[in-house]
Amino acid sequence: MTDPLDLLDTACLLTEEERDIQQTVRAFLDDRARPHIAEWYDSATFPRDLVPELGKLGLLGMHLDGYGCAGTNAVSYGLACLELEGVDSGLRSFVSVQGSLSMFSIWRWGSEEQKSEWLPRLAAGEAIGCFGLTEPDFGSNPAGMRTRAVRDGDDWVINGSKTWITNGGLADIATVWAQTDDGIRGFLVPRGTRGFTTTDIKQKLSLRASVTSSLHLEDVRLPASAQLSEARGLRGPLACLNEARFGILFGAVGAARDSLRTALRYADSRIQFDRPISAFQLTQKKLADMAVALNSAMLLALHLGRLKDRHELRAEQVSVGKLNNVREAIAIARECRTVLGGSGISGEYSPLRHANNLESVRTYEGTDEVHTLVIGEALTGQAAYR
Ligand code: FAD
Repeated sequence: MTDPLDLLDTACLLTEEERDIQQTVRAFLDDRARPHIAEWYDSATFPRDLVPELGKLGLLGMHLDGYGCAGTNAVSYGLACLELEGVDSGLRSFVSVQGSLSMFSIWRWGSEEQKSEWLPRLAAGEAIGCFGLTEPDFGSNPAGMRTRAVRDGDDWVINGSKTWITNGGLADIATVWAQTDDGIRGFLVPRGTRGFTTTDIKQKLSLRASVTSSLHLEDVRLPASAQLSEARGLRGPLACLNEARFGILFGAVGAARDSLRTALRYADSRIQFDRPISAFQLTQKKLADMAVALNSAMLLALHLGRLKDRHELRAEQVSVGKLNNVREAIAIARECRTVLGGSGISGEYSPLRHANNLESVRTYEGTDEVHTLVIGEALTGQAAYR
């Protein structure tokens, strides 16, 4: 029998364990998040109380090994992102930043001491992390960052600012990237360090159920041990971004799927001209086109997930996935909104919320244009960024 949200039976491409993980995450979110998300979005509230529960489920740093992390495969991590974003991109963003940016930066580039100190607490949701790369004047071009760390004896002293930082105002530990005499380096800045403050960004029209902040660093003094000693140059932050982008290309499928589910239900129950609107050819064309795009995006995500699990996934392939799946998800969410007519602008229904959220998703972790240029460079061998 046809599952309208899985026309191609992509579920049969998953292992039993992957299906179990997906079902567990979905059941948890249906119980603890879905009933409240419209209200959180409306009141611009991030549900901080959920964080330890996400930790208990093993969703924080889920695809990392050791230090209390679940150590699942990449596809399972992707499926968890899909379910989270099926509720709201804000929840998936929290998990992406915690696991793929904050925790991954420590796991990949940190010392044994830093890993032991932070990763178990971050995995359990007892601590929250953020990742500060973007600056007010340097977004797509982080190489130009002005935040600077200089040596003073054995210490480092950091001055500068970061902006648009997810979890910034909540974070117990910030990974901050700064210029040094030796190029870009990463540092762990604990909350409460003298000279380190945050300001939350208000009046967001997108990703409202998520905390986004600016970080201010004024003569922040840190011991030598605060440096992520293994990270050298822009490769340090870019490796982390690649991890997060992978979660996004699955997550976008979740937002699209939830939008289509909402539109299908609405089209079936809404009567106009004495018939359900799902019986009109024009509505069916919209639904069919969206189902084709959704299923293609899911196949793409799964293919890239299998490549990642074989350690064969290349950066430009991640760009293909992020560019395509976020672009398709926005188009689907907007089209679903039209199926709902006037009701589509109500917070009672998810498609417009997803579409608004996806505006952030298409911008962070590399804009559409940046990913287009990454793919262009892979195709031609010529970098066209400047
Ligand atoms: P700009 O770089 O100024 O770009 C503006 C426009 O110009 C874009 O359309 C861009 O594609 C285009 N453009 C730029 N360069 C080129 C070029 N060479 N060729 C063609 N077009 C170009 N950052 C973090 O470090 N940590 C976070 O946790 C984080 N969370 C975020 C959460 C939200 C909700 C948002 C909105 C952003 C977040 N960001 C975060 C920042 C995000 O990564 C940046 O917004 C993004 O990299 C784009 O930078 P920018 O906003 O400065 O835009």
